[in-house]
Amino acid sequence: MATTLITDIATLVTGEIGAPVHRDTQVVITDGVVTAIGDDVAAPDHVISAGGLSVIPGLVDGHVHPTFGEWTPAQNSIGWVRNYLHGGTTTMVSAGELHVPGLAFDDLTPELVTSLAVTSRHTTGRVRPSGVKAHCGTVLLTPGMSESHFDRLIEEGCQHAKFIFYDWNHLPSGEPEQYVEWARERGITVKMHSGGVSRSGSSRVAGYDLVSAVGPDVVAHISGGPIPMPDDEIRQTIDELPSAVEVCSSMNYRATKVTVDRLTERDELHRLTLGTDTPGGTGVIPRGMLRNLGYLASVCGVDPAVAVAAATGSTARAHGLDVGVLDVGRPADLLILGPITGSLAEDVLDCFALGDLPGIAAVLVDGEPLVLGRSEQTPPPTKKVTWR
Ligand SMILES: [Zn+2]
Repeated sequence: MATTLITDIATLVTGEIGAPVHRDTQVVITDGVVTAIGDDVAAPDHVISAGGLSVIPGLVDGHVHPTFGEWTPAQNSIGWVRNYLHGGTTTMVSAGELHVPGLAFDDLTPELVTSLAVTSRHTTGRVRPSGVKAHCGTVLLTPGMSESHFDRLIEEGCQHAKFIFYDWNHLPSGEPEQYVEWARERGITVKMHSGGVSRSGSSRVAGYDLVSAVGPDVVAHISGGPIPMPDDEIRQTIDELPSAVEVCSSMNYRATKVTVDRLTERDELHRLTLGTDTPGGTGVIPRGMLRNLGYLASVCGVDPAVAVAAATGSTARAHGLDVGVLDVGRPADLLILGPITGSLAEDVLDCFALGDLPGIAAVLVDGEPLVLGRSEQTPPPTKKVTWR
């Protein structure tokens, strides 16, 4: 049994919406799982002093487009997952492996999309690139699928499905609703591209009428990926559907404010989830999730602890994952971080409230320090972690 004690934590945000922020606390990790917050432990194997920095859960990027491992043809780059880890992302959820070279979006078949998802699940999704929990193998739903395709997907460990290139001429047949039902029966979450077309040029325009007819678990990039549905339809989607709503780094900033204002008016910020929608036309953005947090807290008026919950616990919950919350029994995926020299912030919550990028000193996944000392993607925080 291996135990790690993290001491000298000035601020700890749990990632659970509505949960109190812990001050001057410590965390005990046993075999990769959080076993105490606040309490001490005798003779730990390792002690990390957070040096007065803050701790938040590892970020959960709910919308990425992996291809194979660390390689993305979307921006002709390699090593992107490691860079995201250094930007604080410890879990990522594929919104479809659609950048595979040569994939004809307007000529997808049930066999092809199922095989592609299964292949992805058993390649990139089998290993953890750079230690990141990458959930790959998201099927690109296409007309003509039968229940047996969904059986195969869940048998092979594929847990996510996406409507993006689906031909909505099939909507009146009831097929999309049938897919949602088959997916739900098997614990597969369904995400749906919303708004105008993406960089592929092949996704279909999806506003309130389509989204409400399908009823997905997560309305993808409601504020633009990159083109959002009209403002009234964003509000109507929030008002009429129970779905989680996703905001991505590919966002239209104005429409994100419309989205957040509506969720705030309705006291439903627990439905807000976050992602980057990268790699893609928006680029490869290692600090994308941190930027999302700063924008929500500094411009959209979201309480910084609620913004952290959106980037962690809420996004994980919407995708059926057990990560994103720091509590006893949960995986010890966490960041130690705080203000950078020159920032007026006192702790990480202040950073987000001011719109300042925080500096990451450590990233732990299942209790293992994968980044320790300083991140390769942020400036160092003013305070230092020590390890023994
Ligand atoms: Zn996307």
